[in-house]
Amino acid sequence: MPDLRQTSALYIHIPFCRRKCPYCDFYSEEACEATIQNYPDLLKQHLAWATEHGWSGPVDSIYFGGGTPSLLTPEAIAGILQAVEQTLGRTQEAEVTIEANPGTVSQQSLTGYRSVGVNRLSLGLQSCNNNHLAHLGRLHNRQEGLNAFYWARSAGFDNISLDLMFALPGQTAAELEDDLRSYLDLAPEHLSCYGLTAEPETPFHQKVTSGEMFLPDEDFYADAFMLIHEHLATAGYEHYEIANYARKGYACRHNLGYWQRRPYLGIGAGAHSFYPDHWGSRQEVPSDLTAYRQALHDRQEPMRLLETFDRESALRETIYLALRTRHGITDTELQQRFGCTLQEAFPEAIVASAQWLANDNGRWSLSPSGWLLFDRLILPFL
Ligand code: SF4
Repeated sequence: MPDLRQTSALYIHIPFCRRKCPYCDFYSEEACEATIQNYPDLLKQHLAWATEHGWSGPVDSIYFGGGTPSLLTPEAIAGILQAVEQTLGRTQEAEVTIEANPGTVSQQSLTGYRSVGVNRLSLGLQSCNNNHLAHLGRLHNRQEGLNAFYWARSAGFDNISLDLMFALPGQTAAELEDDLRSYLDLAPEHLSCYGLTAEPETPFHQKVTSGEMFLPDEDFYADAFMLIHEHLATAGYEHYEIANYARKGYACRHNLGYWQRRPYLGIGAGAHSFYPDHWGSRQEVPSDLTAYRQALHDRQEPMRLLETFDRESALRETIYLALRTRHGITDTELQQRFGCTLQEAFPEAIVASAQWLANDNGRWSLSPSGWLLFDRLILPFL
């Protein structure tokens, strides 16, 4: 009898991109059309395997991430959603998100996604500045990015998230403000704002280490982070996680589940799953499409164990994830799950971050300027 694993969240990794962006370290391949169009069959096999091995729904959030999920046709997305319905099951009000690269969509494809039940669009706009878009190696320019947004609205998407990248090489504060103005003119429901970093083994990393390219310094990064915070807060967005802002009622249900350490099943090459059995365990599907195909063909386990948690590591991860969010964590939640308060578990870490860590009637959370120092402040909790 397999372990029973009830989940309300499903992540689906689509590991293909038209062309690799030079800063990106997500798993994706520049595959041929036939490989892309055959991939949904693997996902359906994986779903069947997961339900045979104890995973069950119904799921309340489905997230197509990548890679570039918008390389799949609406018909392919419809087929996957139907397979989800027939295996895990899904709630009527499930949040169904697709990440889309503006350089790969059309009015027709966006209308198609909406009509097959996708109700949230995460658009990889990144910037509205043509020079920066070109430098980032994106497929689209400013006008094409804006067109993708207008098409999405006219396709009926009333829940759109836009990605904004900042701390770009050579970026000025005025350019960032221009970007913010352009984004706010679009009035998206949600924004995800990421500072550019040179991830190991990317072409950008090579350029930065060889001195061919310079990223803005820490001061620029800090000013940019706070500039974004102030502009978006003034415009009515809640800064509900380090990198995420939403209008009331539009926080991403799927991602909130990650930060709250709720179970999720991840399917597709490169996907991760989490299940809080005992103190929790995380599995991964190796980032290898050929091995994934072979495992499913041979009816072998497509996922492998990545890590298991004990009480201590589960407590630390819970705090690490929760302090990324506006909600933070309450002593009541900690007592229910771990039998202790934050003060009992981490008295010294609390002292070290006292300037940025608020305690509001037993609810602990970091201020936005604390988030800026997150990597440093979180260390004593780890
Ligand atoms: S399109 Fe997205 S996933 Fe693909 S390489 Fe660029 S940033 Fe990475």
